[in-house]
Parts: sequence; C-alpha cells; structure tokens
Amino acid sequence: MISLRVTKRTFKGGAAVSHEKRTADCETIKMGVPEKVIIPMLQHIGAPCKPLVKKGDYVKVGQLIGQSDKYVSAPIHSSVSGTVTNIISLVSSSGTYMEAVEIKTDGKQEVHESVKPPEYSSDAELLELIKQSGLVGLGGAGFPTHVKLSVPKDKKIDILIVNGAECEPYITSDYREILENSWNIVSGINILMDLLKVEKVLIGIEDNKPEAIKILSSIEATNDDKIDVVKLKTRYPQGAEKMLIYSMTGRKVPPGKLPMDVGVIVMNVSSVAFIAEYVKTGMPLIKKRVTVDGPAVNKPANVEVLIGTPLVDVFNFCGGLKDNVSKIIMGGPMMGVAQSSLNDPVLKNTNALLAFDAESAKLPPESACIRCGKCAEACPMNLLPLFLNQNALRENIEGLKKFHVMDCIECGSCSYVCPAKRRLVQSIRLGKALLRKSNS
Ligand code: SF4
Ligand code: SF4
Repeated sequence: MISLRVTKRTFKGGAAVSHEKRTADCETIKMGVPEKVIIPMLQHIGAPCKPLVKKGDYVKVGQLIGQSDKYVSAPIHSSVSGTVTNIISLVSSSGTYMEAVEIKTDGKQEVHESVKPPEYSSDAELLELIKQSGLVGLGGAGFPTHVKLSVPKDKKIDILIVNGAECEPYITSDYREILENSWNIVSGINILMDLLKVEKVLIGIEDNKPEAIKILSSIEATNDDKIDVVKLKTRYPQGAEKMLIYSMTGRKVPPGKLPMDVGVIVMNVSSVAFIAEYVKTGMPLIKKRVTVDGPAVNKPANVEVLIGTPLVDVFNFCGGLKDNVSKIIMGGPMMGVAQSSLNDPVLKNTNALLAFDAESAKLPPESACIRCGKCAEACPMNLLPLFLNQNALRENIEGLKKFHVMDCIECGSCSYVCPAKRRLVQSIRLGKALLRKSNS
C-alpha cells in the first residue's frame, strides 16, 4: 500500500492566504461542444507553433493542427471536428501576437485516424510520444513535458515529486483529479518511474485536503512500496517547485538552477494522470478540467472543457456571470492572469477561471512604503521586494540585477502581506521585462 508520511519541514516565508475552496465537493461535469473553438498556436512556454491547416479544411478530434520545429515547444491538436473558418491573430497573456485556428464545430466529434493507443519499446520512443501528445505542465506553468523529462546524461534523478499541493485559493481542479482519477495518477507514476529510473516517488498534498490524502495513501498498486504520500503544511506557495522540493526532501535548489540539479523532477498530478490516459488511448491533450468560481459566477463548478472553448461559453455553462462582473482571471488570484476579453479561449494550462464583482476586485489605494519589512519576511525566495519595487519604478537596471529580480517566482506573497498595499509583484514583473529588454 502507498504509505503516508507527515512532514513538519516547510519553506521560510509565504502567506496564510484564505482558501476559498468552495468547489472542492463539486464533481467534474462535462461541458458539451461549443459552436466554435479558437485554438492558439502558443499555449506553452517556448516557440509558437505554425498552423498546419487553412481556412475551409475539415478537421477531426485529435488531429495535429499546429507544430514547431523548435525543441522547446509542444504540438497543438484539434479538440473538435468541424471546419476551419479562419486563422486569426490573438494577443497572448505576455502581450505578444500569435496565430490561432478558429473552427466551426459540427457536433459529430469524429475522431482522427491518427488517434490510437500508441506503442513504444524504448525510453526515447516514449519521450517522443509524450512530445506528440502535446502535453505541457497542467498546473499552470505550461512548460513542455517532454523537455522536462529529457534528463541530460550528466544528471541523475533519484526522486520524482508529484505535485498535488494546489495552494492557490479557489482552485480545486487537481483536488478533483485525485478524487476522481487516482488510478490514472498511480499508473502515470509507474510509467514515469520506468522512464526516469527513479526508486522513490513522493506525492505532495497540503493538509487541508484530507480526503485526497486518504484516497491516494490507501491504494495498493505496482511499486506502492516506493511511493509515499507526503502530508504538507498548508501555506502559500507550498506548490511552487522550489518550496515543494525543500518541504518534501530538504534539498535546496540554488538560484538559477533547476530541480534536476538537485536530483528531482516535479510533475503536476493532472499531468501524470494524463500520461497514463494517453498511453491507453492515444488521445492527445484536447480537454482540461477547469475550476469556475469567484463571487461573480452564478454556479461555481469544476468543468471538463474542450481546449479552445471561448470563456463566455464556459461561464454560461456555469449559470452565467452576475451583472456587476468587473474582473476575470485565468488561473488563481495570486498568480493568474487578468483576461481582457470573454472571447479568449481556454488553454491547455488553464486550471481555473475566476470572476470577481466590482467590490471584490477593487484594489485598495497604494500608499508609501513604511519600511516594515513584512514583504521581505514573506518572500519565499529570500528577496527584498521593497527594493525590487523601487528599482523597477525607477527603471534602474543595475539595481534590479543587484537585488536578483530574475529569482522572483511571482508568487505575490509580498503584495498580499504589504500593509501599504504596494503593487509589488506587478512592478517586479515590469522590472523583469525591463531587464530582459536591456539584455536583448
Ligand atoms: S518578491 Fe517575488 S518571490 Fe518574493 S514574495 Fe514577492 S512575488 Fe514572491
Ligand atoms: S511590506 Fe510594504 S510597506 Fe512593508 S516594507 Fe514591504 S513594501 Fe514597504
């Protein structure tokens, strides 16, 4: 049986954010096929894909419709059957333009001939299959999984961490994955243990999710003696990679280094389950479980959505938005991205859609820094957010470098605790952009 252990070790700093996990008991409901989907060619960290289809083409479910020849990228597949009506230009969350394939659906959901259970006989073939599945980090990061799993020869991985912490307020999509799909998680773990040749797997779950801990730690399966569920202290941002690795193993990932530099790979729990499903069916990544919540949503829910579905359709499926909606966020309230249009589509790494009314979205006025030091105490990366804020606002590149702006994981803990309500994380993002620009 998978064993359970409790760790008292936790990272320094962070914030005690309110949980707001109102959808924890909402079993996932499948949303139907929308009238149209808009499938962006950039849904991951890395190079955008080029559309492989043109206006007028008929496409089927699972068909490859976008690809890049760059290594850090992930192919894009159609989530529906229907006719391509346009190749449009969209603005990504990072502000860059990207192409997107617009498809009018026919409701038949005809599956493409290429979709069949894959066969592989080597690690290299499995890695290539994972690449072809279009999988990216489903916890929100969107990093191409095949790149993460390609371990250089000079690195040795001895621990696989499966991230089920889900520390952001509101989001319960990974929690529902554990409750509804625990067998796929364990099957995925076995596939990855084989691929990475690791002898130890740790599944991290915060102690505010006792049901998820109970379900996973009572499973009997192949290799269960090598798998532990680790009960973590509930504290934001426990699910951030570097924090999670420290809490679960005591290993510290140095600034500028990767988890694999300390022998660890971290995979989101839904990504692991997807790998098991893909190996069984060959259906690439075309759908996503999304938590739909927030004070301006009429019927909060966990919804299985086809990728490319316009946000407005998802909200309408959840009873629509209340009249006074003022802000839509894709992702959690701490690290998510505000959306400018309800016509924007659900992406591969969309784990939540939150809608806030004018009252709850209102930002308190910013006042002068009172040098209380609370932001520095809260920073899990040991940074000095007040100085990063100052240097970003003064556009002082040398100051940004001196205070290690690029080490910021943009968790927002500093902004959350600041009594002066300084827009710390926003200015730090600006500072990073300034530094990147000065380097280019
Ligand atoms: S400086 Fe960055 S890493 Fe530190 S608390 Fe603020 S947002 Fe998080
Ligand atoms: S928490 Fe806010 S007020 Fe306090 S030192 Fe940091 S920026 Fe200044």
